[in-house]
Amino acid sequence: MEFKDFSLFIKYTKVGAPFVEALASGKVFGTRCETCGRTFFPPRAECPDCLEESMTFVEIPTRGKLLSFTSIFVPPAHYGVSPPKMPFAKVTQIPCPVGVVEVEGGIRVMGWIPEVALEALKVGDPFEVQAKTLKNGQVTIVLSPI
Ligand SMILES: [Zn+2]
Repeated sequence: MEFKDFSLFIKYTKVGAPFVEALASGKVFGTRCETCGRTFFPPRAECPDCLEESMTFVEIPTRGKLLSFTSIFVPPAHYGVSPPKMPFAKVTQIPCPVGVVEVEGGIRVMGWIPEVALEALKVGDPFEVQAKTLKNGQVTIVLSPI
């Protein structure tokens, strides 16, 4: 698994490789500060409270509630929904729901909601955060109703 297999530009960070490797194995990692015990998502190399670098990768809880959602019309290419469109092109674009789920500990995770129509989503619905490897080999975070 290489950095190009993830959609974000995280290859220059200290935490990028373990995070992407975890996603490829179906796990969602955050980092926990060994000094104060706070857990962060996305993973951080340093604790913003203690300014310590003693961070450990931990699996974050995956069950929570939908905190917010919206629809994007130019989804990342790796979603495989539709090819990226040129700005101002006269084409029909497919709405692509994305959302934020708050899991145990107040950790908030943003992800793609590929299998639910926007009209069916409600804030507060129970959701699960999942690491998925897509057909093209890239990994991403998917939010699924429980
Ligand atoms: Zn800390």
